[in-house]
Amino acid sequence: KAPTADENVAVIGLGRFGGTVAKSLVRLGHEVLGVDENPKIVQQWSEDLTHVVQADSTDEAALRQVGLAEFPRVVVGIGTDIEASLLTVLALTEIGVREIWAKAISEKHGRILKSVGAQHVIYPEAAMGDRVAHLITSRMLDFIEFDDGFAIAKTRPPADAVGRTLAEAALRSKFGVTVVGVKERGADFTYARPETVVPSGSLLIVAGTTEQVQRFAAAT
Ligand code: ADP
Repeated sequence: KAPTADENVAVIGLGRFGGTVAKSLVRLGHEVLGVDENPKIVQQWSEDLTHVVQADSTDEAALRQVGLAEFPRVVVGIGTDIEASLLTVLALTEIGVREIWAKAISEKHGRILKSVGAQHVIYPEAAMGDRVAHLITSRMLDFIEFDDGFAIAKTRPPADAVGRTLAEAALRSKFGVTVVGVKERGADFTYARPETVVPSGSLLIVAGTTEQVQRFAAAT
């Protein structure tokens, strides 16, 4: 479905994080306005985003001038410069942006962002560190994460699913994941059906959101 004007998003600070967010939003079909104070960065992103403007986002008048007040949703990707990050969120609050997502580089930074009006605070490095920890410590044998937060993993089945059919194991209702394939030791993967029995020592291919897949793997 084509996103409505209400789904347009502005991304301020096109660094590693903001740039990735902006690019993914475009890929998801949204109109994206990118804002950065660095002319080189603005130039770099001019092809990839719907609109790009050079502006100092701590300046409320400049934000109004580039039309930020019309955006229902704004992402602030400025991290390293904490003062610029906070002043930007404050300015967005002042001009009446309803939904502000901001990246934080520390817990304290995140708390202050909330106090100046950010509804959603993201900790990208903490989140990635957490993901890697899950991968290292879970029993996932393989893990593919797609850009839209969807993941497929190769993992052992939970103990209580062994010897039962997939219908009986009800992994979708318990974990939200869909079992795509089942591999018995020494055999090829077979396409999963409700009546497929999960043999002991087998491996499953499961699909779901990254979170569901990780929760599933942690339970095996
Ligand atoms: P990352 O670690 O994700 O790359 P950075 O904090 O290093 O994030 O990058 C932030 C981006 O925000 C940079 O491209 C920088 O030019 C931009 N930026 C910083 N301060 C401002 C500001 N006051 N107005 C607009 N853009 C800014």
